[in-house]
Amino acid sequence: MLNRVAFLFYEEINMQSFNFSAGPAMLPADVMQQAQAEFLDWQGCGSSVMEISHRSKEFIAVAEKAEQDLRDLLAVPDNYKVLFMHGGGRGGFASVPMNLSQPEQTVAHLVTGSWSKGAVTESAKYANTHIIGTDVLIDGQKTLSKQTEWEWPEGDIAYLHYCPNETVEGFQIAQPPTHKGINLVADMSSNILSKPININDYACIYAGAQKNIGPSGLAIVIVHEDLLGQAQTCTPSIMNYAITAEYGSMYNTPPTYAWYLSGLVFQWLKDQGGLAAIEQINQQKAQTLYQLIDQSSFYQNNIAPQHRSIMNVVFNLPNSELETLFVKEAAAAGLHALKGHRSVGGIRASIYNAMPLAGVETLAQFMLAFEQSKG
Ligand code: PMP
Repeated sequence: MLNRVAFLFYEEINMQSFNFSAGPAMLPADVMQQAQAEFLDWQGCGSSVMEISHRSKEFIAVAEKAEQDLRDLLAVPDNYKVLFMHGGGRGGFASVPMNLSQPEQTVAHLVTGSWSKGAVTESAKYANTHIIGTDVLIDGQKTLSKQTEWEWPEGDIAYLHYCPNETVEGFQIAQPPTHKGINLVADMSSNILSKPININDYACIYAGAQKNIGPSGLAIVIVHEDLLGQAQTCTPSIMNYAITAEYGSMYNTPPTYAWYLSGLVFQWLKDQGGLAAIEQINQQKAQTLYQLIDQSSFYQNNIAPQHRSIMNVVFNLPNSELETLFVKEAAAAGLHALKGHRSVGGIRASIYNAMPLAGVETLAQFMLAFEQSKG
């Protein structure tokens, strides 16, 4: 009886409450329920999957299936390695220059927000790091500086690094900025698996897990195999791509539970119809909010339409008092974690793959009602 009541309560919470956290972010309800069901006794082995050896044949099967499903979802060609690493997104800020450049080499960066800026700071420790282009304000709208105006440094460039989705500012670069055959590296921490991409456009992509992949503690790196084996001598072994690839991402103990849960998310994505299907829903979710914002003079977003993130929708209200009230009343209505990043303020609705359309529609209804009563 108690179980039944608890179950009904859970259902009710799930129906009425939505978590718009930017990360760690909500995971698909189906995945959480499966993980809960097999938490104490995984596949009848009497233990949790987090309590068994990463070298057991049972865990190796979990790990291999997760990698294969990720390869299938992103159509990763055979000449790319898929690595399950430690260190989250910021781990990539360091591991990319250590593995893909030499100290005397030059690397180029686009800076369009907080995370691409963070990548520059870290990269400067390992290579000559040049900012070649930034976001700019044109006619009151934030956009990317023109490619023809990018300032390329002299000489060879090891790669061009950019962040296709700035999680804090809600700014996206939807198409990869390919240029004269230069190796492209992308920090996809907050938009990986949100739409199909062509891996061949990239030398390397990396992502912290805690938005569209699984729980924090894991980072995915997908790197062209021709680039392996030239890491700087200072590179710690656990951050070395060639060593990680050689040992099947098990040079040391990997974050096994995060790997398992990510595998459940990959299977869930396949069950949804893959990335083309999920992109359609993601577009629909984002456009629901942007249309509402554009039709209102109460809510503002100053990002040029083609650069508006489909994962993190940011907006402002007429003043910060109203924003504080919005966040408070939204939470009381079951719409959680809508406060913008502390560095920029405002409101941010993070609507990653796991956020159902119903969550976005509920938020839209709340926004309309809030505007009517306070606008
Ligand atoms: N890059 C991007 C685009 C991010 O959104 C984040 C985290 N929000 C990071 C890097 C840093 O990730 P982590 O905290 O896992 O190091």
